Amino acid sequence: MSHLAHRRILLKLSGEALMGEEDYGIDPKVIGRIAQEVMEAREAGAEIGLVIGGGNIFRGAGLAAAGMDRVTGDQMGMLATVINALAMQDALEKLGGKVRVMSAIKINDVCEDYIRRRAVRHLEKGRIAIFAAGTGNPFFTTDSAAALRAIEINADLLLKATKVDGVYDKDPKKHQDAVRFEELDHDEVIARDLQVMDTAAFALCRDHGIPLRVYDVSVPGNLMRILRGESVGTLVRG
Ligand code: UDP
Repeated sequence: MSHLAHRRILLKLSGEALMGEEDYGIDPKVIGRIAQEVMEAREAGAEIGLVIGGGNIFRGAGLAAAGMDRVTGDQMGMLATVINALAMQDALEKLGGKVRVMSAIKINDVCEDYIRRRAVRHLEKGRIAIFAAGTGNPFFTTDSAAALRAIEINADLLLKATKVDGVYDKDPKKHQDAVRFEELDHDEVIARDLQVMDTAAFALCRDHGIPLRVYDVSVPGNLMRILRGESVGTLVRG
């Protein structure tokens, strides 16, 4: 266990990371591959909390733009994260993982309620805890839920798994000369107005000194590289 640079992590996966090449829902191959990486990290001794987004199914802001009540839209978005959490639980269990889904809104026929002490106990026992339904409140995102849960479980690193291999000085899709940062601190992110996480999530990380690493989840092996202490993607120092 001692060979790992990080003992307890909170891994945030966007809903879109589960879509693969599809434009909606979950690609079983993609979720299977990510589950395999999570299992590898668990077997190496890491304690792992997961927060999964819901953007591959519903986003409240998008539904509101189409005319729906925002709070109802956000509740649908939170339920979408539960769907993704159940899919990830299944994928991990198929690989022999011990997993508990804990939801911030009560749906306890389907999964446990989120109770912080119980969550920490699951981690201590080697179970992977999947924190579903975001923060349980409308007008927040799963980035905020990830920051919140990372602080609550005393994670030593928050990982944001995306489709981009880190934080750039400008949008790398639009600018060929965009430069990726290896390391930044919170003040540099604010001064340069870089989009790392939404403001509420970022403020939580900054105020509580949680280090955040942004990395490309589509590159196999990246999670273990990070756990071994390699510099993958961009680190926002705690
Ligand atoms: N959501 C919410 N409160 C939360 C977390 C999420 O209301 O604490 C809703 C919100 O509508 C959001 C949706 O759930 O758009 C899906 O989450 P998010 O957009 O963060 O997913 P991601 O972009 O990571 O896939």
